[in-house]
Amino acid sequence: MNSVQETVRQILDDIKQQGLSKALEYTEQFDGVRLEPDQVLVDVASLPDPSLNPDQKEAIDFAASQIRQFHQATKPSSTEVDPVPGLHLEERLVPLNRVGIYVPNGQYPLVSSLLMSAIPAQVAGVNDLIAAIAPRSPLESNPLWVYALKVTGIRTVLRLGGAQAIAIMGYGFDGFPPVDLIAGPGNQFVAQAKQELFRQSVVGIDVIAGPSEVLVITGEIDEKQAEVAALDLLAQAEHAPDAHAYFVSWNALAIKTVQNMVAQWTTDHQGILGQIDWITVDSPKEAVRFANQVAPEHLGLIGQDAESLAEGIKTAGALFVGWLAGQALGDYVAGPSHVLPTGGTGRFLGGLSTRTFMRRMSVIATDDDLPEAFLRAGQVLASLEGLKFHEQSLRTRLIRKASQGISQ
Ligand code: NAD
Repeated sequence: MNSVQETVRQILDDIKQQGLSKALEYTEQFDGVRLEPDQVLVDVASLPDPSLNPDQKEAIDFAASQIRQFHQATKPSSTEVDPVPGLHLEERLVPLNRVGIYVPNGQYPLVSSLLMSAIPAQVAGVNDLIAAIAPRSPLESNPLWVYALKVTGIRTVLRLGGAQAIAIMGYGFDGFPPVDLIAGPGNQFVAQAKQELFRQSVVGIDVIAGPSEVLVITGEIDEKQAEVAALDLLAQAEHAPDAHAYFVSWNALAIKTVQNMVAQWTTDHQGILGQIDWITVDSPKEAVRFANQVAPEHLGLIGQDAESLAEGIKTAGALFVGWLAGQALGDYVAGPSHVLPTGGTGRFLGGLSTRTFMRRMSVIATDDDLPEAFLRAGQVLASLEGLKFHEQSLRTRLIRKASQGISQ
């Protein structure tokens, strides 16, 4: 067990045993904020209307509208099938009832993450939505939070961050029932706590959305393409010291040019250079193979080969094709959620969507026309498996159905 796992297990165990008071102790330790129990839940309606200028409001409204439209368009619907008379089958999609959205507020106030998680949940039809935001400062002191909360229609904020927030959403406390699912990105403590509570079957989770990653592939590129490629690497690395960027190319000049640009912009933050890996590959095919193996959260394809390379990409959280499609466009306004799988989990997980907030339920409905063949075949299979009452339950139905036919 590594140190993050140990820290998180301790926090979760302590809060499970000792409840909110322990979460408040940890908040004082990790966030440097002392909260009283009655300051943990904030009613958004009680927050004063925020003073933002029209450009700022318009930008948030624009992003919210794009995100809402995309998720409405991609929301799946239930499927119904009637294979034979007497049998009606459904894959019914049911929205989850109570969901906690974790919104990062450690290094930066990621208001965009609130929009990117809460809007898909609302479009899915979630009834009761809570946002957990670390208490760096009172919510009303940042009008961006207040405006975005009001735009999303979230009514309650839990002012806790890190593993404490995850524990409280998972276990609940007096007056705050546990949630059914926790969604949203966060640092390694948040990601680990979500996984641990899921492992314990305490709560559902969305994706493993931990420290951010980007992988950019280019072949031969011009100056503007090199410039945006370099900025995309830096944009992802600036998220946090554990965020990571890869630049992959088979073109030595492209690597040199992008490296020079990165160096130019990082004279004051050399530390960020350690977060970027420069990978030289033999061919475009090799670049695609490497990318699919890394399964990065964001994958940028820039340059004349972008469209042809896109065909081969199978594991990215989000794929950005063309020099105008920077990750920051996806982070804020394009529409699909920016909450995406990290740490290689893109090999088997996709990003957050309306599906995250819906569970599938099978429906098997019958009427008296159900063909006897279904009961007979089931009866035979039950006998073969030796399950006596399974067999009897089908045989009884068969006999009753036959006698009902006679009496009619
Ligand atoms: P955060 O809100 O995730 O974490 C802050 C909390 O971490 C604090 O409230 C504190 O309680 C806890 N914490 C800090 N140090 C701790 C310690 N030593 N021990 C225990 N708990 C500790 O905010 P952040 O730290 O800025 O991280 C945001 C993360 O979200 C970044 O890693 C970013 O890359 C990631 N992110 C990922 C995605 C995605 O889709 N994968 C999207 C946006 C952001």
